[in-house]
Amino acid sequence: MDDRKLLTIAENIKENSYSPYSNFRVGAAVLTESGKTFAGVNVENASFGATICAERTAVFKAVSEGERKIMAVAISSDSDDYTFPCGICRQVLAEFGADDTRVICGNRNGEFKVFRLGELLPNAFLKF
Ligand SMILES: [Zn+2]
Repeated sequence: MDDRKLLTIAENIKENSYSPYSNFRVGAAVLTESGKTFAGVNVENASFGATICAERTAVFKAVSEGERKIMAVAISSDSDDYTFPCGICRQVLAEFGADDTRVICGNRNGEFKVFRLGELLPNAFLKF
């Protein structure tokens, strides 16, 4: 699956974002080793610490369905800037990805830049 297609999945699911506190809608989609895609949104909570990002929602859906290897992740928001995964999500992606996992960072105009996970989280803390 190409980057543009995965980002489109992220853009489309963004409509389901539950973000009444930040009004910052995010959608994410992951491509797994088996070729399946899983998508998620940010889900906020009145107790802010209970909030989860779109990227982790998508990864946890994939892992819950038995997937263990993330090949790519696409992220979309309503920002003019490219949307990068936060630090916690980078750590979660590292658990199920690799240095060459593609991170497709989109903006509100559908433009995107692609990074390798190893660039965004060098020297990740991994299994010991
Ligand atoms: Zn995050």
